Amino acid sequence: MSRAFNFSAGPAVMPEEVLQQAAAEMLDWHGSGMSVMEMSHRGKEFISIYEQAESDLRELLAVPANFKILFMQGGGLAENAIVPMNLSQGGAVDFVLTGSWSQKSQKEAGKYATSRVAASAQADGFTSLPSPASWHIGADSRYVHICSNETIHGVEFHELPDLKALGCDAPLVVDFSSHVASRPVDWSRVGLAFGGAQKNLGPAGLTLVIVREDLIGRAMPHCPSAFDYKLVNDNQSMYNTPPTYSIYIAGLVFQWLKKHGGIAAMEQRNIAKAQLLYDCLDNSALYVNKVDKACRSRMNVPFFLLDESRNDAFLAGAKARGLLQLKGHKSVGGMRASIYNAMPLAGVQALVDYLREFEKTQA
Ligand code: PMP
Repeated sequence: MSRAFNFSAGPAVMPEEVLQQAAAEMLDWHGSGMSVMEMSHRGKEFISIYEQAESDLRELLAVPANFKILFMQGGGLAENAIVPMNLSQGGAVDFVLTGSWSQKSQKEAGKYATSRVAASAQADGFTSLPSPASWHIGADSRYVHICSNETIHGVEFHELPDLKALGCDAPLVVDFSSHVASRPVDWSRVGLAFGGAQKNLGPAGLTLVIVREDLIGRAMPHCPSAFDYKLVNDNQSMYNTPPTYSIYIAGLVFQWLKKHGGIAAMEQRNIAKAQLLYDCLDNSALYVNKVDKACRSRMNVPFFLLDESRNDAFLAGAKARGLLQLKGHKSVGGMRASIYNAMPLAGVQALVDYLREFEKTQA
């Protein structure tokens, strides 16, 4: 069996050690005589898996005690509705548009709240971040939403905005789906962060919500009970059946992260991987990445061949070398390499070698 290097934007590459452990434990988890998939979420075996996952994640991300960790379902898109239902009380909310995902969030929130645009980078094709000093945040804002890593456009906040320094008391809501656990989080600037698991944490089906406790308990009356943060929190994320197998696998990923040096070590690896790839693109006459260098994503690297008629040949050659899922998102075109935590440096090196080789054949 040979595993390819998978550059998918998500669901995405998993650490091989985690897959091997899951395979070994598939039929009989720790002598329980059952697969984790078959366990009651209320039984002591699964509760131990859940508690370990929660505490490992809290330790890894240095989540302060006054933040609650919720394991939910519905993905990032459901949170686009669940957040305004829980935090807006039907008032006004502000969005910073930096790409497709924040755009989607802003649109969805309009069903539940007065959804405003505080700033937008649309005019430059979402290749930069509007500086926080230029954001127009209303004094009545219930929260300010950003997507801290735009998976499609490849734009990342390398520092979270300090809303207090902008004279704004509203909480910051962060969609960190596509770079959670790739770098530390400054929780002093965050009110709520959410993300689907299927990029950096584990399989699809699990949605992580980390929320400051004073923001819990404000849901609008029509908010579905299963999506009311208070009910979810009061029931340790087991108000309804949680995505048990996804939580188990995410828990194995958390242990893998701890074993490999935690988030600080991951960040250093991610910086090195991203630099290797961006340097290759910047030093070539065939490829281009259009994102402002100050906000290039370390996780999702979109790039274009200057001669787009070569796209199919590029992708076919990549596939033949076991470099998979490099086609860009349909809304942007070109190519995209997603290089999440579980992508080894060797995978990025193999991609860089191929990029150089393909460029030579085009000369
Ligand atoms: N936000 C971001 C930043 C994403 O990358 C994605 C998925 N690619 C979503 C939200 C939507 O997530 P889901 O498909 O899990 O609803």
